[in-house]
Amino acid sequence: MSIRLFNTLTREIEEFQPLEPGRVRMYTCGPTVYNHAHIGNFRAYVFEDLLQRHLEFRGFTVERVMNLTDVDDKTIRGCRAAGVPLAEFTRPFKQAFFEDLEALRIRRDARFPEATEDVHIARMIEMIATLIERGHAYRADDGSVYFRIGSFPKYGQLAHIHLEDLKPSGRVSSDEYEKEQIGDFALWKAWTEADGEVFWESPWGRGRPGWHIECSAMATGLLGPQLDLHCGGEDNIFPHHEAEIAQSECVTGLPFVRLWMHCRHLLVDGKKMAKSEGNFFTFRDLNAKGWTGREVRYALLAVKYREPLNFTFESLPAARKAISRFDEWSQRLEETAGGLAEMLPEALDPEKFGAALDDDLNISALGALFDLIRDSNRLFDQGELSPGQAKSLLAWRDRINTILALEPDVEGIPDDVRDLAAKRAIARANKDWAASDALRDEMLALGWQVKDTKDEQKLVRKS
Ligand code: AMP
Ligand code: ZN
Repeated sequence: MSIRLFNTLTREIEEFQPLEPGRVRMYTCGPTVYNHAHIGNFRAYVFEDLLQRHLEFRGFTVERVMNLTDVDDKTIRGCRAAGVPLAEFTRPFKQAFFEDLEALRIRRDARFPEATEDVHIARMIEMIATLIERGHAYRADDGSVYFRIGSFPKYGQLAHIHLEDLKPSGRVSSDEYEKEQIGDFALWKAWTEADGEVFWESPWGRGRPGWHIECSAMATGLLGPQLDLHCGGEDNIFPHHEAEIAQSECVTGLPFVRLWMHCRHLLVDGKKMAKSEGNFFTFRDLNAKGWTGREVRYALLAVKYREPLNFTFESLPAARKAISRFDEWSQRLEETAGGLAEMLPEALDPEKFGAALDDDLNISALGALFDLIRDSNRLFDQGELSPGQAKSLLAWRDRINTILALEPDVEGIPDDVRDLAAKRAIARANKDWAASDALRDEMLALGWQVKDTKDEQKLVRKS
C-alpha cells in the first residue's frame, strides 16, 4: 500500500518512502509558550496527528519530535512584564498546552524538547561555531551572529523565491543595517538590556539563540541529520523552514528533509487566525461555550489540510451531529455483535476510508465512513447484517478509531484528577517515570485508576 503526500519542496505529490524502510523520523514545529495556543495552532497539530496516526495505521513506526519554543522575543517580553524568571513565566503555558493536547486527543507519545534545555543550547552553539568556521556565518558589529544566505545557493528553494526578492522578515533582529545582506538571519542574538536576566554565555559573548537554529539543533540532535517528514503551518515555510534547511545542511552536509508538509491556515473572516491579529479563540474559549475536545478535534480534522479552513461557529454543531451519528452506530454495533467475525456484505467497502487517506490525507475518508454507516444501518434495518458481520464492523471501527479518536469522553472525571493526569502526561513525555508513578498513586488515592496504552492514559474508576 503506498502513501502519497504533497511535498512543499517539489510542489508535487510523491510516494512516501522513509530513508529506513518502515521507520519514520518526523519533526513538527511546536508552540511558542508565551500564551495559550489558539485553534489555528491546533489545526496544524491535529493535521500532524492525523498524519502520524495514518502512517502508524499503515504499519510505519513513527518517531516524532515537537519542540517548545520557550525563549524568543515574545517570551522574554512576557516574563519581563510579569516580573518573573523566564522559566516561571512559560511553565503554566507549557502545562496548558499539554492539557489541550490531551483534550484534543493529539498523541503525546512524542518527544517535546524545550529550546532552553542545556543540551539543546549546547548543540545550537556548536552548530553556530561550525557555520562560522565554514564561512556560512559571521559575527556582526552588534555582536550577533548571522547566517550568510549568499553562501548557500539553494536558499529560497523551499519557498520558491529568489534571493533578490528578499524583504526583511519579522523574526530577525531589528538591526538590519548590521547585516551583509537583507535576508541574513540571526543565529545568535547578542544580549541587550531588553533581555534582562535572559542570556547564555557563548564564544560570542552573552546572548540567546535565534528561533530558526533552535529547531535545526533539536531536530538533528534528537532525530539525526536526516528527517523523513517535517511539518508545520504554511507560515513556517519562509523564513523558518528555509532557514532550517540552510543551517542544517551546511552543518551536516546531507539533505535535511525528504518530504515537507504544511497545512493551510485556519482563517477567521478570511484572515489568518493569529495572536497578533487578536482574532483568535483558544480551545479553552470553545470549551467554556460547551464544545468538547472531540468536537473541536472533529471540526479541525474535517477540512483537508491543504485547503484553508474558514472557522465559523456553525462548524461545531455540524461536528456534534456527525459524532452523534458515529456514536449511535457504534452502540448499535456493540449491541448486535456476537459469535465469530464474518465477511462483510459486498455492499460495504471499508477499504475506501484508508485509501482516501493514502491519497495525501484526503479527508473525504470521513465521507466514506459516513457512507458506510448509512449503508450498514440500512442493512441493520432490513435484518440483513448478522452478529458476526457486526463484529467485523466493530473491529474495523476500532481500527479506524486509532486514526480518528472519536470515542466518547469518560464522564465525570473530577478536575483535580484531570489536572493530575495532565501533569502525568508531561512527566511521561519527559520520561520522568518516578514523577509519573507518584502521580498515578495520587490519582489512585482519589479513586481513579490509570491504564497506560502505547500512546495515552485512560482513566477508569477504581473497582
Ligand atoms: P507559533 O506558536 O506561532 O510558532 O505557531 C505554532 C504552529 O502553529 C506553527 O506550525 C504555525 O505554522 C501554526 N499556525 C499558526 N497560526 C496558524 C493558523 N491560523 N492556522 C494554521 N496553523 C497555524
Ligand atoms: Zn521550527
